[in-house]
Amino acid sequence: MRLTKNFTFEELLVSDTAARCGIENIPNENAQVNLVKLAYTVLQPIRDAWGAPIAVNSGFRCQTLNTRIGGAAKSDHIYGAAADIRTLSNTMENNKKLFELIVKMAKEGKIQCRQIIDEKNYQWVHVSVNHPEKEFINNQAFHLK
Ligand SMILES: [Zn+2]
Repeated sequence: MRLTKNFTFEELLVSDTAARCGIENIPNENAQVNLVKLAYTVLQPIRDAWGAPIAVNSGFRCQTLNTRIGGAAKSDHIYGAAADIRTLSNTMENNKKLFELIVKMAKEGKIQCRQIIDEKNYQWVHVSVNHPEKEFINNQAFHLK
């Protein structure tokens, strides 16, 4: 199902680990609402500003999947409020540019993020939106080096 021009519901659920381990990675209604918010208010505006496709490494993770991959206990991924994204070339240089673009957009008020995190020296970028379970905690926290 297409959520926005360039993002589908399915790509925000897909997980190699879930497939390999037979984990059903199904979001509940609250997580579905958060995933739609994430796609509309953050991912698509980033995609439009970047001007090229963006890959989603990981979006929603059910509790079982999150535990299996060693995610943070209260990760925003559990709530469908976070995505790990990267550029198609997946070079550190381009992922850093993507991260800097996202931070710039947030500072200019073009997007509202809960967190923007450079993961493992630009292997990917974690972006999340505010959601009822964690509203206003750590709002607009930029994890800059
Ligand atoms: Zn993440």
